[in-house]
Amino acid sequence: MRIVALEEHFNVPSLVRRIDPAAIALFGFPPGFGGSLADKLPDLGALRLSEMDEAGITVHVLSASGPGAYLLPGAQGIAFARDINDVLAKAISSHPDRFAGFAHLPMNSPQAAADEFERSVRDLGFCGALINGVTEGLFLDDPRFEPILARAEALDVPIYLHPGLPPRAVYEAYYDGLPGMAGFRLSTSAWGWHSETAIHVLRLVLSGALDRHPKLKLIIGHMGEGLAAMMVRLDKYLTPEAPHLKRPVKDTILDQVWVTTSGLFTLPPLETLLAVFGPDRVMFSIDYPYCTNRTGRDFLDTLKMPTGDMEKFAHGNADRLLKLKNGAARNRAAGK
Ligand code: ZN
Repeated sequence: MRIVALEEHFNVPSLVRRIDPAAIALFGFPPGFGGSLADKLPDLGALRLSEMDEAGITVHVLSASGPGAYLLPGAQGIAFARDINDVLAKAISSHPDRFAGFAHLPMNSPQAAADEFERSVRDLGFCGALINGVTEGLFLDDPRFEPILARAEALDVPIYLHPGLPPRAVYEAYYDGLPGMAGFRLSTSAWGWHSETAIHVLRLVLSGALDRHPKLKLIIGHMGEGLAAMMVRLDKYLTPEAPHLKRPVKDTILDQVWVTTSGLFTLPPLETLLAVFGPDRVMFSIDYPYCTNRTGRDFLDTLKMPTGDMEKFAHGNADRLLKLKNGAARNRAAGK
């Protein structure tokens, strides 16, 4: 069976070395971040493909992970984004049936980010962009990011809202003062990342940004970042406070948000996700190399779904949303 995974990461160490290590540390990355994955994260060839083959994963839709363009000012950030997208485009052109890509954007320069988004889709054949959390403490509903939302809608490709490290003030108020690495974990992969990404979606709804861009498509990972379980309650309390919106909060989310399973491989959250978002909105993903292809595949193999729903889950929804199988990406890459 064809299996597409959408939240699969890479980085390019030679580009990351352009970033001042002090800026990386100040941003909140712990010392030696990614060190244990130093072989897997940068690999865009034999190692990655062999692990995909071993687990029967057909396609990785790749996105940059870790320190990125947002840690470099102005022109340097713009150049970083362009260069890392070019590296990814080269890997995709070497393995067009195995790799696809989300653009990395210089978020500190929103107009340039919108232009790089367009170049990545039109010239490089990418199928969307992935954004890591807040930029300079601001979520995407801030008016400065309007060009990025408008460009995504015009290009008819999704934005993957991925978690990022919290701003320093948030870290200090919510997560500091705990033993060892417990506070860092609480702020990131254990909890904070996920509540922040749910807030990111809700701010885009409540600000009216999704009403202004009704064709904008968002993807979120980690079994819906808690939104599925909380949907009834957040709709109950938020929709009455939002008479300025065209739709109830719940309807806007179900109209414009797709979800992946990245990083969670147990049945209860998936059952909730399918019950709330329905089988056309839920997509398999792994979060490689932070999780293994094998873990994801073993989970997928335990699922008992009707055949049609399984096909949608494993590849059909992603193929349709990202236009992976109709050759559109490759035609765009070839300038057709
Ligand atoms: Zn991830």
